[in-house]
Amino acid sequence: MNSLQALQKYFGYSQFRHSQEDIINCVLNKQDVMVLMPTGGGKSLCYQLPAVLLNGLTIVISPLIALMKDQVDSLNLSGIPAAFLNSSQSTDEQRDIAIKLSNNQLRLLYVAPERLFGKDERLMAFLKTLKVVQIAIDEAHCISQWGHDFRPEYLMLAGLKREFPGVPVIALTATADKLTQKDILEKLNLTRPEVFVSSFNRANITYRVQPKQNSFKQLLRFLSERKEDSGIIYCLSRKSTESLARDLRDEGYAAAAYHAGLNNDVKAKNQEAFLRDEIKIVVATIAFGMGINKSNVRYVVHADLPKNIEGYYQETGRAGRDGLPSDALLLFSQGDAMKLREFAKVENNAQQSAIMLKKLDDMVEYGQMHRCRREYLMNYFDEHFPDNCGSCDFCLSEFEKFDGTLIAQKALSAVVRLKERFGINYVIDLLMGSKSIKLWAEHKLLKTYGIGADVPRADWQRYIRELIARGYLRLSDDGYSALQLTDKSEAVLKGMEKVELITSQHIEEKDNDELTFDNELLTLLRKHRQEIAVGENLPAYIVLSDATLLEIATYL
Ligand code: ADP
Ligand code: MG
Ligand code: ZN
Repeated sequence: MNSLQALQKYFGYSQFRHSQEDIINCVLNKQDVMVLMPTGGGKSLCYQLPAVLLNGLTIVISPLIALMKDQVDSLNLSGIPAAFLNSSQSTDEQRDIAIKLSNNQLRLLYVAPERLFGKDERLMAFLKTLKVVQIAIDEAHCISQWGHDFRPEYLMLAGLKREFPGVPVIALTATADKLTQKDILEKLNLTRPEVFVSSFNRANITYRVQPKQNSFKQLLRFLSERKEDSGIIYCLSRKSTESLARDLRDEGYAAAAYHAGLNNDVKAKNQEAFLRDEIKIVVATIAFGMGINKSNVRYVVHADLPKNIEGYYQETGRAGRDGLPSDALLLFSQGDAMKLREFAKVENNAQQSAIMLKKLDDMVEYGQMHRCRREYLMNYFDEHFPDNCGSCDFCLSEFEKFDGTLIAQKALSAVVRLKERFGINYVIDLLMGSKSIKLWAEHKLLKTYGIGADVPRADWQRYIRELIARGYLRLSDDGYSALQLTDKSEAVLKGMEKVELITSQHIEEKDNDELTFDNELLTLLRKHRQEIAVGENLPAYIVLSDATLLEIATYL
């Protein structure tokens, strides 16, 4: 039987996806491989199919018991003999499995790394007497401290090549982060591994961002068109997952909360019910996700701002694993960004905190930008994507536009008057007629002083960013980031070219329905604030005592 026949016979699929076939061929040729494929890409098949074709045992290292059980159940249903070994089993069950292994009756054995390399060396000694033909390491990013799911027990896997010399190892992960990828390769000691990188683009997911105004009403509107669908709603705090799940139940939705603070039985129960479609909506913190092998999740909503693009992309990737059209919706608010910024600042390690802030800035940019979201995401992961993906809110032209020629002319002439020597905020000060530059501007007889006073500052910022993105303005690269004209500017100034801008969506930040959590937390922060320097409406920095940090940590 060849690979394609096995694919059809055991897995019921007509063709391979991505580079599955090449990967499988490598394994069959006894080469080490590392597979980087997005969530839902079809990684499991890359070792399951060779396991069927090779005459011997495939050991699969996997981090979660729930994950092992799912996979083993579905393999057995497809007629592929597989089992897992873990601490939840009785001695009898374990003995049964050992007998089957000795008789060469199992094709795949799932096991956790700490079991394989644990104090009890008998399992390892036993496995070494068997004909092991392949070792697969699922969720291989767990070996890296750089990743988001570091598991110290994964470090033990460095010993695999020594224990099973000559047996091909296949490491698989959906992590898109370059640093983590390098780390995985180094830690696993693979022999001249063949690395397969699939595009991380998830073509079947449509990305949208809405300014968060009244998140509950926005959610109900979104859900009303998706009553029969399964979905995940991510919130930042445990508390809000519970209250939102309750509110959704009151509206008749089968929703349940999931977070790390719930006891294991409740978590397992909710997860099972979600897999069986008894619960349609899981309202969760980021604790929910890895190992949720549910292919028909139709949407992922972020009701609060994620901390960075990596997390956001990973979480949205849980939608549409079956390849059918799915939605990702982010409710964006500056208030969330401010809160996350405060958390990032109170990190102990200054370098860590700087990285977190930088990543958060990217997330905020994504939430506010008006350009193709897929292009931005792909660029973020160093992948090129031609603009206009056809399935994000920008490419679908869901933003309302207006004739912004006059606005553009005002901005451009302010830049001219300032001789292209000042940055965005100063140009806006001039346009808005800011008191702080009144004397200066009048002294210099600048006619543009105050000509844009009717437009709110936040809108000016957005318009100018848009003008930059569209090439009507640029930022100098001499380190001063002064606004300057481009060769496209003149036509606009002379009225020969029209400029369309996106209509402001007037974000109402003060919404009582949703800000309860923020308020409580902010009160707590305020109560313990020892020193505050207030910059432009934002607390510039906050110094907190250890006791307060502890209090906030327990609150979360
Ligand atoms: P990953 O581990 O990469 O997140 P999985 O291995 O769980 O993804 O596969 C995701 C889904 O894609 C599963 O439902 C799987 O059965 C399906 N799948 C895998 N390969 C193919 C294929 N060649 N054709 C169709 N569906 C596939
Ligand atoms: Mg997987
Ligand atoms: Zn797009």
